[in-house]
Amino acid sequence: MSFTPKLLNDPLSAADELLEGLIEAYNGQCYKVGARSIVKNDIPDGKVSLLVGGGAGHEPIYHAMVGTNMADGAACGDIFAAPAPNIVQEATTAIDRGNGVLYLYGNYAGDVMNFDVGAEMSEAADVHVQTVLIADDVASAPPERKKDRRGVAGLVPIVKIAGAASQTAETLEDLGAITEKASLQTRSIGAAMAPGSIPATGKPTFELGAGMVGLGMGIHGEAGVGEIPLPSADELTVKMLDLIVEDFEKDADVEALKSGDEIVFFINSLGATTMMECLVCMRKAAEYFEERGIEIFDVLMGPYVTCQEMAGISFSITRVDEELKQLWSMPCQSFCYSKMEGPLKGGSATVTKTANNSKAVTKKAKQVAQKALDLSKSSAGLSLEQTKQMSLLVAEKIIAAEPILSQADRDLGDGDHGLGMARGFTALTKQLSENSHDNLRNLYQEAGNALLTTMGGASGVVFGSLFLAGGKTMHGAEFFGSHELSHLLSQSLKDVMSRGGAKPGDKTMIDALHPAAEAAKANIDKPLSESIIAVAAAAEAGKEASKAMIATMGRAKTLGEKTIGLPDAGAISVSIILNTMADFING
Ligand code: ADP
Ligand code: MG
Repeated sequence: MSFTPKLLNDPLSAADELLEGLIEAYNGQCYKVGARSIVKNDIPDGKVSLLVGGGAGHEPIYHAMVGTNMADGAACGDIFAAPAPNIVQEATTAIDRGNGVLYLYGNYAGDVMNFDVGAEMSEAADVHVQTVLIADDVASAPPERKKDRRGVAGLVPIVKIAGAASQTAETLEDLGAITEKASLQTRSIGAAMAPGSIPATGKPTFELGAGMVGLGMGIHGEAGVGEIPLPSADELTVKMLDLIVEDFEKDADVEALKSGDEIVFFINSLGATTMMECLVCMRKAAEYFEERGIEIFDVLMGPYVTCQEMAGISFSITRVDEELKQLWSMPCQSFCYSKMEGPLKGGSATVTKTANNSKAVTKKAKQVAQKALDLSKSSAGLSLEQTKQMSLLVAEKIIAAEPILSQADRDLGDGDHGLGMARGFTALTKQLSENSHDNLRNLYQEAGNALLTTMGGASGVVFGSLFLAGGKTMHGAEFFGSHELSHLLSQSLKDVMSRGGAKPGDKTMIDALHPAAEAAKANIDKPLSESIIAVAAAAEAGKEASKAMIATMGRAKTLGEKTIGLPDAGAISVSIILNTMADFING
């Protein structure tokens, strides 16, 4: 497996250099102390102080959690290594304001040992220290041994709450108690899809079978529940949330999560997992909570607890009562996490159920199209209703051709043409089958708008223009005949060329549209049943001719001569559209 090259100087100096960079980024609001600690520069006298810390390499935690209403300081270790006791002690001395220092960090043997020695050194210098360990990973030990659990992403909500509580806590014991409570109510589970690599060696942090996901894996790739074949985002989301919910049930020290409970929900990316994937999981998680009556009080999302370029995701749930909600709502600021001032809506978001829409719509289109074949056609052309049914049949064929169109775009572009077309024509189907239209002009306008607003990509504008051209040219037309066909194709050719700047021969959909428009013009006085056959044949020939062309427009242009031999994806679409129209008209 090859890894992303890292932009570093000496990998062995990375921890020191990243901390220096972080101090610069804080731009005067934090300063460096001792060997490798970072401290907030305006800690008031008498404050109960909060110290976090751990190994580097998991940025932005922990050192970037120093800030307003967050941690007062952080003791920063080397890459993936606990900070040495002197680093802990130097940070402790720097943030102590005479009322004690709470240590809050993840439960790893190295961290516990080093922080404990640091605490002893600090106590010897008359600083009162208490420790709360973060042990939120439900996959690392059963509930009866939860003190053995390792700390993972749940540390972010726990530190946020502790930071808020530390603003008003009167004693170290008070801050310890509220932090313990937040910790007890916070549970996490992670899943890993691919390892990150260690900067100094370039070696992966763990091994994982191809196509497998490590369920319950820790942030460094520590074993968890086990390896399973990578399921869909929805399936994995449910599996992971089930494990957390079951843990609340099994643990005698907490109540089970129940309807009416409020939670802070945190989706963490381990580094390479994108916001897109996090959002897809968020959607399912919201549905999951809604089904159980669990209300989302607030959401955190992003790469906060990372392991270099590791691909993976973790979910953390913090159950919040009135006290924790109040602390949660306090605004805060740090490089890792900031929270704006102002009330939260509370409650879970409304989930609109749209999952099976496209299937239902396609089925409807099929029924309508079937009926269309029984209707007799006027010699002047198709009626409004028949034109609508023809468009629905076109949509059905385009949606069915999704794999072919996607493959064609994969060969020469970025592989999304089929998906974009299917999305657009699903919206078109919905628009045409659910709304009534007064005339042909209105029908084409609405159809074009449906494509334009839902498809995206180059083809959203291009194919949107194709239908919108109908809207522009069919003013007053009662029937869709050869004249209407010719005007529509000429207008859309003009619009597509002026919008996209491509011309015939550039290997785009224009290479099918242009000959089709020419054929329509040449056959404008023939009956529609004849002209459409000539038009469809011209589009098909144009699509075939596009194989020999070198792409000079669109995404394929960078491939140059490699594009010879394959047809343009958009040209295939044009050919499908016009051939389906020919079939409908002569069917
Ligand atoms: P994207 O290029 O944004 O990924 P699609 O994959 O949906 O969009 O559509 C690609 C198709 O769009 C191409 O096959 C081509 O036919 C058409 N296309 C791209 N650029 C132009 C353009 N400037 N003019 C006309 N058609 C274009
Ligand atoms: Mg594309």
